[in-house]
Order: sequence, then C-alpha cells, then structure tokens
Amino acid sequence: MTNTLYLSTRGQEKEIKASYAIVKGIASDGGLYVPAQIPKMDQTLEDMLTMSYQDVAYHVMKHFFSDFTECELKDCISKAYDSKFDTEVIAPVVQQKEYSFLELFHGPTIAFKDMALSILPYLLTTAAKKQKIEEEIVILAATSGDTGKAALAGFADVEGTKIIVFYPKGGVSKIQELQMVTQKGDNTCVVGIDGNFDDAQTGVKEMFQDEALKEELKKKGYVFSSANSINIGRLVPQVAYYFYGYLQMVKNGSVKLGDKINVAVPTGNFGNILAAYYAKEMGCPIGKLLCASNDNKVLYDFFSTGTYNRKREFMLTCSPSMDILVSSNLERLLFALAQGQGDTVKNHMESLSVNGEYTVDKDQMKGAKDFIGYFATEKETYKAIHDLHLQTGYIMDTHTAVGYVAAQKLEEDGEAGKAKTLIVSTASPYKFPGSVMGAIDERYSDYKEMDLLVELKSLSGVDIPGAVKGLDEEQVLHDILCGAKEMKACVKEILA
Ligand SMILES: *Cc1c(COP(=O)(O)O)cnc(C)c1O
Repeated sequence: MTNTLYLSTRGQEKEIKASYAIVKGIASDGGLYVPAQIPKMDQTLEDMLTMSYQDVAYHVMKHFFSDFTECELKDCISKAYDSKFDTEVIAPVVQQKEYSFLELFHGPTIAFKDMALSILPYLLTTAAKKQKIEEEIVILAATSGDTGKAALAGFADVEGTKIIVFYPKGGVSKIQELQMVTQKGDNTCVVGIDGNFDDAQTGVKEMFQDEALKEELKKKGYVFSSANSINIGRLVPQVAYYFYGYLQMVKNGSVKLGDKINVAVPTGNFGNILAAYYAKEMGCPIGKLLCASNDNKVLYDFFSTGTYNRKREFMLTCSPSMDILVSSNLERLLFALAQGQGDTVKNHMESLSVNGEYTVDKDQMKGAKDFIGYFATEKETYKAIHDLHLQTGYIMDTHTAVGYVAAQKLEEDGEAGKAKTLIVSTASPYKFPGSVMGAIDERYSDYKEMDLLVELKSLSGVDIPGAVKGLDEEQVLHDILCGAKEMKACVKEILA
C-alpha cells in the first residue's frame, strides 16, 4: 500500500507522518501539510459500487493516513459515521430536474462540517497515542457559526479531549447560538465574546503562538490543538464523499461508469473544493470543478485573473459560512500549481500579508484549468431558492443555492458539455430558515426563526431535524462571556 508522507507548503518541513501532521495542525514555517504525492485509488470504481459509505471512506483514507493500522482507521470510521447521521447512506444523492444534489447535511449539526468533524476527534486521539502524547488535548476554536457547533458535537465526551469554542456574542444567528449554548458534554465549553469573529479568531491565533501559555498549560497536563479546516485530518475525510457521490450517480442511472461529472461546490475557505480536486487526482471521474462564491468573490476573481486580492469590502450575505476574504486552503492548490516549490508559495503568502495580494504566473495558472470560478449575488441566490422550490418542491439552503447558480451559469456558458453536474449541498434549509423562507415568500420575512421551522416542514414535507427541534426549550448550559482581550485569562480559568 502507498506510504504517504507530508511536507509543508512553504518548504521547511518534509517527510512528516500523517499522525504528526494531524496533531500539529499547522507546520512550523506557517505552511499547511500536504501529501508529497496525491495517492491513486487501488480499488476500481466497479468494485466500489457495492460499498457502504464507511467502506469507501476507508479505501480513500487508508492511502493518506498510511501510518494508521487498518484496525485503527476502521475504528475511527465506525465511531464517526454511525446513527448520529439520520440516514444509513450518510451522504445521499437526490435528483431534481437535470441536477443531482449531494446532501452532506445529515449529521448531528445539519451542516457539511459534520462530515469531517465527526471523525476528527478519533483521528486526533489515535494520532496523539501514536505520537506518545500524554497530555490532555485542548481544542481551541473561533467560530462564525457552523464550525463551532460541529466541533463541539464531534468532541463532546471524547476521552482525552476538552474543547473551548469562542463565538462573537450577537454575531451569529439565533439558531446557531442556541445550538452552541445548549451543547452537552462535560468536556465542552462555549464562550461568547464582546467583539466580532475576527477578534475571536485573532485571540485564538495568539494563544496558539503564546509559548509561555503553552508551557504553563503543559505543566498542568494540557496541550493545544486545532479543529479548523487547515488540519489535514479535516480535509482527507472529505475526499471520500466525492467518490461516494459519483458512485450513487452511476447506480441511479444518471451517468455511465467512467463518464465524467462536474462538481459545483459552495466555497469559503476552499477546503471542500480542494477535497474534490484531491478526489479527481486520485481517479474519481470529475471534469470541471465549479468554485462557487457569494458576493465575497475573491476566488472568482482569482480564477479569472490569476490575482488574489483581499483588499476589498467584507460583505455580510445570506450565506454567512462563506463570508470570507482569505481562503486558507487555497495555499494547498498554489503548492500544486507551483509543482511543489515551497519558496514560490512562501512568497505569495508573504505578499498577501504585506500587500494584501499576490499573482500566480500564467504558466502556473494553466494547472488550474479545470477550476471555473462563479459567483451568485444575493438576488440570484434568493431567486434560485424560490424558483427551484416552485419547479420541483425541493428546498435548498442559501449556501447550496450559490452552488446551484454556478451550475446554471456553466450551462448558460455552454461549458457543461455532456457531463452532468453534481451540486454539493452543504447545509440543511433548517439551519437558515429565515433567509430560506424569505426567499420563497416575502410574507415570512417578519417571522422569528424558530417559528419558521413548522412552516418549512409543511412546505417541504421534510421532518424537522433533531438538531433544531425544540431547541428553544432546551436548557442553556453555557453562559460565560468575556472581553475580546480577556480570552487568554478565560482559558486559564476554565483549565484551572
Ligand atoms: C463552511 C461552509 C462552507 C464553505 O466550505 P469551505 O470548505 O470553507 O470552502 C459552505 N457551506 C456551509 C454551510 C459551510 O458551513
């Protein structure tokens, strides 16, 4: 079997084992860990047709996590993808008009982050054992909504771990806040901060770099780790569902075995679509990769011009989980485009932090020819939800709608060819009922979010997921608040 070793995108570290990369999260030179070579699948698509989600996940992940034993990896997989998902299929494909939707929202927090965050705690504790780390792992996370809850749900009651999540008080939706503050589990902690998401993120980053704090906590038996999407342990599990989605399209007759499909991916930090690129490189028959952005269209501009420019106004949209101007995981694609030249990537990243932009040269951009950037305005997003509901009765969430608009634009551009497009559906409409129902009918605009759940149920015929049902009646278990500058003191007190 493949022996995959990792290196840093900025060139300073190499021959790193997967378990080390997972525990460490980010390389010492500030780069991200990437496999020295993207492995190839050793199973034929035909052999994979009859596999369960768990089996597909195993055959994909074994190549990337080659220092895990079969037993260890299978154990992680079976603990992650179990009855906390509301369907045995885990990631079903549903067909609407000429499009297929890969629904990645059947996990405990009804957003696609569950696909990786339900397995990361097990990968991390297994990796820590292999690396002979004896301290208790403390996950620190800043969230603008979805990541926090998915990480809390993933790490709750996982032995050997604690998790502390910071969110901007007043800066997340009512449902997102309720989801977090009602989180059960003795090892979980949720803190509202007096500041915005950037303040929370900055505070967490500072703690990761605070050597004195780390030393002090080590004496108490704690070590920090991160659950954000730059961790290779979050990226790799996402590769599996592209194979699984493809295989379902073969089984339901949408495509013939071996025919290519396009994928449309609603994108923020570039993690999900990078997983699609890895799947393609591994041998999944993917043609075009549609990188779908909202009004924060940095990536659209990048794929159109080769210049990444974050100097622009930050827009608040109805797809908040994609409101982002610095897409961290793009660094991994830059590394591939630069054919593994760490220096080139390092220069781009320095330029980004000093000048707010960088440009990839024309020849290197040729390596990205299968990516097409699209973006959807707010109006287009709402209209897409409205129209698809009218035509089919199917209700998609605001993030998925951005992907849907991209698929439609590909069609209009005459680029789709004969290939079918698989739209990656990243959240349940129940997670954003205000925007979704407002798109369908203006009369819902002044409803409270929790009151819209029943309306959404009667319109869609889909049961209210356990993740949000009765959420406003659940006990609030976390009410710590702190100033943006007091996060460190707060962590010390929690761990005292
Ligand atoms: C995080 C998130 C995204 C963006 O995914 P990336 O991997 O950051 O590109 C899209 N939709 C939803 C609902 C999300 O929670």
